[in-house]
Amino acid sequence: MLKTITGIVLKTDEYGESDKILTVFSKEDGKIPVLYKRAKILKKGGGAVSQLFSVSEYACFVGKNFYIHNQSMLLKSFAGLQKSLKKLAAASYLAQLLNFAYENYQKDERAYMLLLYCLNKIEKSTEKEVTAYIALFQMKLLALIGYSPMLNACVLCGSDSDLGSFDVEQGGVMCEQCSRTMQKYRHISEAERKILNLLLNIVLKQEDFTNIDSNHLLNLVELLHCCLTDKLEKQLSTYDFLIAVL
Ligand SMILES: [Zn+2]
Repeated sequence: MLKTITGIVLKTDEYGESDKILTVFSKEDGKIPVLYKRAKILKKGGGAVSQLFSVSEYACFVGKNFYIHNQSMLLKSFAGLQKSLKKLAAASYLAQLLNFAYENYQKDERAYMLLLYCLNKIEKSTEKEVTAYIALFQMKLLALIGYSPMLNACVLCGSDSDLGSFDVEQGGVMCEQCSRTMQKYRHISEAERKILNLLLNIVLKQEDFTNIDSNHLLNLVELLHCCLTDKLEKQLSTYDFLIAVL
């Protein structure tokens, strides 16, 4: 059966002498392994389709273990991401997060749209905005996979005052008293809690990060990374490089 999908390359792996396996996140079928024969010997043009972050329309045969590439048409290459280390590191991190958050053949069109939206923004944005779009992606992804953090009441007792601590395992803010009882304290400022609320609740395309402090954003990228790795139970090899260049 020949099937047409539109998707973005999250990962590429060498396969045999001249083939590649592309991990493609598609709008229609979610995460799909695509066997691209002769990908390594194809010249420019054909090869662009198998580059990281490229968005293409693929006509594939649906095989037992893979979709098998038959024809493809490049729709977007995100070439601008290659021009800045920070942007490249951010894109690599986002792609790895999405790869780890979904199983093969698991569909989620919203996740596909979210990645495309954030990569588009990161490609065009200033350095400061890159950090904001990483945090936005992290938060929206947490929500998509069912782990929206609790931000307006203590995760343990429900109190809405003195919410100065954040607990990664419980997935939300904790009041001073509970954090003392639990002997767990990870400080979160009121300003940072507000930004988390904004990231969680904002509708895409309506975000405005101009008045947000860069240090707060960096802290939150780290916090949200901890939340994601706790839920995904995976270590992300792209994260150390990302933190080094942010
Ligand atoms: Zn409490």
